[in-house]
Amino acid sequence: MRKVSFHTLGCKLNFAESSTLARRFVEGGYSRVESHKDADVCVINSCTVTAQADRKTRYLVRRIHRDNPAAIIAVTGCYVQLHHDGAAALEGVAIALGNDRKGELFDRVEALVSGRQTLPETACGGFFAAFSSGDRTRAFLKVQDGCDYRCAYCAIPDARGPSRNIPIAQVVAEAERIAAGGQREIVLTGINTGDFGRTTGEKFLDLLLALENVAGIDRYRISSIEPNLLSDEIIAFTAHSELFMPHFHIPLQSGCDRILELMRRRYTTERFAERVSAVRKAMPDAFIGIDLITAFPGETEGDHEVTCTFLEQLQPSYIHIFPYSRREGTPAAKFDGQTSAAVSERRAAELALLNGRFNHLFYSRFVGTNAEMLVESADRGGLMSGFTRNYLRVELPYDHALAGKLIDIRLASVAASGAMTGEILRAKQNFSENIADIIEE
Ligand code: SF4
Repeated sequence: MRKVSFHTLGCKLNFAESSTLARRFVEGGYSRVESHKDADVCVINSCTVTAQADRKTRYLVRRIHRDNPAAIIAVTGCYVQLHHDGAAALEGVAIALGNDRKGELFDRVEALVSGRQTLPETACGGFFAAFSSGDRTRAFLKVQDGCDYRCAYCAIPDARGPSRNIPIAQVVAEAERIAAGGQREIVLTGINTGDFGRTTGEKFLDLLLALENVAGIDRYRISSIEPNLLSDEIIAFTAHSELFMPHFHIPLQSGCDRILELMRRRYTTERFAERVSAVRKAMPDAFIGIDLITAFPGETEGDHEVTCTFLEQLQPSYIHIFPYSRREGTPAAKFDGQTSAAVSERRAAELALLNGRFNHLFYSRFVGTNAEMLVESADRGGLMSGFTRNYLRVELPYDHALAGKLIDIRLASVAASGAMTGEILRAKQNFSENIADIIEE
């Protein structure tokens, strides 16, 4: 039996796609191994969101080829889409396929192994449907791909193509497959997830409504949604839904209107703050995560201060900080006022301090309250972790019997690790088990 290893960089979409590719290899008779040293085929699913992501891809190729020169190395993903010839020319690479041909990867490897010449062509701009499996608790389900927004700093629209999606009926069928595999929570994933419906004429809200009827799934989360797409209807729906969690990840990118305009974002800070307060009005305990790019070209000390002041007012639960990375081919790469690494690192460190404070404040609010937690399966040094409905991470002593279960807990304190500790009140029947009981009756 041939062996394959997977090495995935970047976002949840890439992880979902790698998982789907891995299932294809297993169906085709391969066994999946962890280490590249044991593999006959090594698949690298690359990322190009920053210059560092590019470097990591090249490093991975070099390392795998050095450690296992006989392995077939197949590279795919966003780095390959934008730098195909460079990726194909890396020593050791046998197959290089961009995102638009990711679905061919297994057939390409098999053709190489068997010496076959011809392969079916995959239409450029097609949709490679994917979901992650393997984790007993949570699956990332790809519902959308690509982006039409053209933010000034972003190379992803070139790497991922135009915004497109599969129909609601197909997403529901994929969710049913996930439920059948035993996973309890689904994270809806895309490049611009809230833009779902662009190619099918459907509405994102109708997708959420349809998914509520899938038997066997206890929880849904939306991985990220642009502020201009976070409508009152979606907020109201989530506030009343038992299954969609009060957890929002909304890319802000800058708290300074001048920089937002340079970035070609589609909202002002006023509009962003209004959306966040609409969420909090409907769901006071909601987790609000944001993305922030620091040291964008032209960002002055004053602009950075404006961002910090805006964040103090906004008080998000979590800030995901990205130091600006210059991507060739984007408008921002040609902007004046490119910032130095030292300035970028200092501003990122200041924002990290703010993030630590906001995150701790958010967690501390819930000490002494009761919550529902979905327990994950991994044993991490005698501890198991999981998330509450509003995305508080909780750590408890490991108990195999609780893996994949919903439990009620009392939140006790915020540990040094940043997670909460808690006391188990009772294990609940998962909604899916309830549904099974009802069907049997
Ligand atoms: S919304 Fe902007 S930042 Fe996000 S993928 Fe599209 S172009 Fe890139």
